[in-house]
Amino acid sequence: MDLFEYQARDIFEKHGVPVLGGVVATTPEEAREGAEKLGGGTVVVKAQVKTGGRGKAGGVKLAHSPEETAEKAGEILGMDIKGHTVHRVMIAQGAKIAEEFYFSVLLDRSNRNYLAMCSVEGGVEIEQLAVERPEALARIAVDPAVGIDEAKAAEIVDAAGFAADIKDKVAEVIQGLWTVFKAEDATLVEVNPLVKTEDGEIIALDGKVTLDENAGFRHPEHAELEDSAAADPLEAKAKENDLNYVKLDGEVGIIGNGAGLVMSTLDVVAYAGERHGGVKPANFLDIGGGANAQVMANGLDVILNDAQVKSVFVNVFGGITACDEVANGIVGALDILGDEASKPLVVRLDGNNVELGRQILTERNHPLVTLADTMDGGADLAAAKAAAAA
Ligand code: GDP
Ligand code: MN
Repeated sequence: MDLFEYQARDIFEKHGVPVLGGVVATTPEEAREGAEKLGGGTVVVKAQVKTGGRGKAGGVKLAHSPEETAEKAGEILGMDIKGHTVHRVMIAQGAKIAEEFYFSVLLDRSNRNYLAMCSVEGGVEIEQLAVERPEALARIAVDPAVGIDEAKAAEIVDAAGFAADIKDKVAEVIQGLWTVFKAEDATLVEVNPLVKTEDGEIIALDGKVTLDENAGFRHPEHAELEDSAAADPLEAKAKENDLNYVKLDGEVGIIGNGAGLVMSTLDVVAYAGERHGGVKPANFLDIGGGANAQVMANGLDVILNDAQVKSVFVNVFGGITACDEVANGIVGALDILGDEASKPLVVRLDGNNVELGRQILTERNHPLVTLADTMDGGADLAAAKAAAAA
């Protein structure tokens, strides 16, 4: 989960990383009040969107009075930055910047390690710097078992080439940012720019934090950080029901058990779709091992509420949950959903108790349900039904 800058700022502050005062506003009037709260001096009005390059897009503006703050907030609110609409701004205390640096620490999946990156040439163009002059961006591996201790922080600031008079201060801030990374179970903590002010202070002026949702159980307070307004409503509903669901762009709804089976089901449906006017899978949905009637109903409910879906392919391999339970789940789900179930369902069952499972569905003889013998056959039939309904 990516955080907004103001949320990153709050988390930095919580762990003792130096930041400047910041207040969130959703209207020009709130922005004016925010500027007053910060003392009425120079502030920076910053678009809160989860994308970089806000500065270049006109989403970061200086204001010298509460009136001007309201005015600048009015300009920035509603702005579109790379497809993200600005609903909030942060009013941040203005900094007198002497120098801009860059620091990040992230999960380096390919090396199964953490990686710190640091440069004395921070600011807005770090991606360009990394490509054009990679030698200006120090990359230091961080042992997860040790983290960024005093010695590692010193190694990082040396590699980046910080001036002697600020080395220690920067190293201290970097250790603080490691504390954020570790304590919050982040996969990314990035500060660009990390600045030296005219008074020689080191301050994190812009923060980007990605939290590891797999560690969410350790951080109940992280749930509040979620931007529920931005989530796809179907994905939000699936999440509420603990379903592994990803909305895609096609017409054939997919339900399966086990991520591997669902992935290969997406493939065969995509191939089958090529023979039927180019219909495609509409989603990924893994109902997991315990596919009882309620879980199946929740899954079908999500998929059938996707207006783009024209047919559904249920592809289940009975294992610990046997096919008869799955079949009862489907029948129960259709009963629970009643008239809401309005789209053709192609069901392919295999594995444990497959005969009994098929028998249950055959006996129920629901007008929307067709049984398929094979995965390829089921995919073809579901694609054909979607194409016919499109
Ligand atoms: P980004 O473009 O989305 O990365 O947004 P940033 O928060 O990094 O802001 C972009 C640039 O605006 C920074 O690199 C700074 O040069 C400038 N900036 C941000 N905050 C301040 C501030 O408090 N004072 C001054 N003078 N400039 C700032
Ligand atoms: Mn930035």
